[in-house]
Amino acid sequence: MDAADISQDLTRVLFTKEQVAQRIAEIAAEIDEEYAGKDLLIIGVLNGAVMVVADLLRAMKVHCEMDWMAISSYGSGTQSSGVVRILKDLNTDIHGRHVLVVEDIIDTGLTLSYLVSNLRSREPASLEIMTLLRKPEAAENAVDVKWVGFDIPNEFVVGYGLDYAGRYRNLADIGLLAPHVYS
Ligand code: 5GP
Repeated sequence: MDAADISQDLTRVLFTKEQVAQRIAEIAAEIDEEYAGKDLLIIGVLNGAVMVVADLLRAMKVHCEMDWMAISSYGSGTQSSGVVRILKDLNTDIHGRHVLVVEDIIDTGLTLSYLVSNLRSREPASLEIMTLLRKPEAAENAVDVKWVGFDIPNEFVVGYGLDYAGRYRNLADIGLLAPHVYS
């Protein structure tokens, strides 16, 4: 679905699918350069990063493998607590591998910092992060993110893999959810 199909549910469109595709193509070119001649493993974080991984990998020209993790972060309501549980672990042994974690969004960065320390303990050859979206609070947590699609304001976004109550993941654009939807 496009933003026009659910315009009453959105306050505004933050990024159109064309803008997202353009930015992903730019990042894919940088990733191609970084990993030329290296054996790259992409780790997508379910469920939100499904669209980013699918589009990023198709825009890349270097070979890579793909694996997935599912994690749940506990918190009160919409607040992240940084207490994280692995719901689905990797199928791949990442020891000695060049690993790129692909995220949909970093808010506080607490979920990501847990994930990074967990993955580092498995001793990959290198570990980098790419996120499509990043909120301002992420700066308060020392997570070194190599590629950021867009820095966004501290508002709740949906679309392009990001949900509200399980919905809107299949929205092709990225939009701000209208308050009447969640109040
Ligand atoms: P963090 O630990 O960085 O605070 O939380 C990151 C997670 O919170 C994301 O993976 C995502 O599931 C959720 N999240 C944070 N901000 C948003 C948002 O604006 N929209 C949606 N749909 N999820 C968000």
